[in-house]
Amino acid sequence: MVLRIVINKEGKKFLVKDTSQDLHTQYGFLKKEDLKKKSGSKLVSNTGKEFSIFDARFIDLYRKIKRGAQIIPLKDIGLIISETGISKKSKVLDSGSGSGATTCFLANIVKEVISYEIREDFFKIVEKNIKNLGLKNVKLKHKDIYLGISEKNLDLIVLDLPEPWKVIEHAAISLKPGAFLVSYSPTIPQVMDFVDAIRKNEKFSYLKTSEIIEREWEVESRKVRPRSQAIGHSGFLSFVRKI
Ligand code: SAH
Repeated sequence: MVLRIVINKEGKKFLVKDTSQDLHTQYGFLKKEDLKKKSGSKLVSNTGKEFSIFDARFIDLYRKIKRGAQIIPLKDIGLIISETGISKKSKVLDSGSGSGATTCFLANIVKEVISYEIREDFFKIVEKNIKNLGLKNVKLKHKDIYLGISEKNLDLIVLDLPEPWKVIEHAAISLKPGAFLVSYSPTIPQVMDFVDAIRKNEKFSYLKTSEIIEREWEVESRKVRPRSQAIGHSGFLSFVRKI
């Protein structure tokens, strides 16, 4: 079944999972018959509020994935994609899978993603998220990546692990020459140990470590200013290349 999105002019959005029932919102309810209308149709709730309906896209479903472990936010995933230039031809490994957020986002744009997760409870969450997003190009493995990587000829390895330096030797064997290794860590001591180990390893060249700070703005008539909510910290991204 195709899931659908109902949205109003203010961007308030609802996922329609079941078109055999009316959809209740804080703006009134929408009749089940209306939820089957073709994409782009205008809908009106019982209280007179206007909505539009369309088939859900990847990003609509992605934002609803089930979460176990802390995910890599979109602002950081954006930099991983742009700095490495991965594409529909790329074969990528992601570990730990965590909630599967990174794995699924990458799977939507590359050829194949292999994903390693050590914890069974998280593995099950990722399995479910992959299925709900309808992704067919993910090989999810219940494995400890510190013990080794079975795949070869990879174009990118993304690490979101407590001790990423334990993967460097395995990555050297599994990455193609010129391919990328990206390590995401929330704390600076992890970055220090990772970069230090990379600098000592002759199979890699260190590119850079970055932090992305995204500042959302409020644009409301003449009240145009950064949103007042505090900017939370996510992590640092270290970029490395196999030579
Ligand atoms: N990037 C993920 C979140 C990863 S959280 C996302 O966007 O959803 C870190 C994950 O690494 C946790 O689920 C943890 O269980 C897993 N992990 C820790 N050590 C591991 C290891 N040695 N091998 C595989 N997975 C590991």
